[in-house]
Amino acid sequence: MCVLITGDPARVHPRRVDDVTALPSFPFRDMLHDRLGARRRDQRFLDAAWADPLTGVVVLRGTDLAASPDGSTLSWISPADAPPGERLLLGAADGVVRFALLAAHDPTESLEELDEVEVSAGPVAPSVTSNFSPLRRLAQGLSALDASFAVHAAALAGWHLRHPRCSVCGELTESVCAGESRRCPSCTAQHFPRTDPAVIMTVLDDRGRCLLGHNSARPDGWFSTLAGFVEPGESPEQSVVREVQEEVGVCVDRVTYLGSQPWPFPSSLMLGFEAHASSTAVEVDGQEITAARWFTHDELRQAVTSGEVGLPTTVSIAGALITHWYGEDLPPNVRQL
Ligand SMILES: [Zn+2]
Repeated sequence: MCVLITGDPARVHPRRVDDVTALPSFPFRDMLHDRLGARRRDQRFLDAAWADPLTGVVVLRGTDLAASPDGSTLSWISPADAPPGERLLLGAADGVVRFALLAAHDPTESLEELDEVEVSAGPVAPSVTSNFSPLRRLAQGLSALDASFAVHAAALAGWHLRHPRCSVCGELTESVCAGESRRCPSCTAQHFPRTDPAVIMTVLDDRGRCLLGHNSARPDGWFSTLAGFVEPGESPEQSVVREVQEEVGVCVDRVTYLGSQPWPFPSSLMLGFEAHASSTAVEVDGQEITAARWFTHDELRQAVTSGEVGLPTTVSIAGALITHWYGEDLPPNVRQL
């Protein structure tokens, strides 16, 4: 049996975003699968899809994904081979339906907690010891299609695992609509997945220099874009102005949106901007940012090639933002982590 996917013919897949972002490529930029949102309440469709041996299932342990040891492919299995667990509909690609399966999770096993706006400063090697890998390890090795499913699965799994109880009455909730949301059986409140917007930005002055900061959580010598969460009641553009002011004491105006990146570590959406500096004197906050420097193109190239400075790799949109300003591929890092 093969489940026929009859989506809206007006929908065009894959969806790339070359027409809406000027940034060079970065992981999770393209959504290459149809999320089949209209099918999440269609139990007949869901049952038929699960009965189809061609349907693909990727198992998650916590938010780690089943993948080949070298991190090059997700490990797709048939539903009949899937262990017990929560089924989450991811969607379809090339006429094949895909689910994520949340394997029974030991609640005493804590989830990997990461700095939500952490900017990766270096490469993360694929796992060589486990069939389950964090998305961060897989980000650069997966095909664009597997990456499209992987970021969806990890983000959705992370939300389900972190929100087992109703935020209104405290009762345990249940997943409904193939994982689209959770429902409270006690007060009937419905809870939908959360995404936390964060801004990440290059700051450029009238001389064309770029301001990069050193985050106190990173090894010495590693510089990247500034970043921070959008606060309640604040627009992303206002957040850019505030974050730059708070972190490095620089005033910015002319805030331009360049592109975004899902960043499910655990639940962020990185909104990438370029901002023009109306002042250039730097005064770092000394807490999150302990150093900040203006770089010309030549200064950055010399600093990186000499090993004085390290830059973010291509996992994060930070690298794409800096590359957008630099105008060509960034020089490879010499500095060791
Ligand atoms: Zn409730």
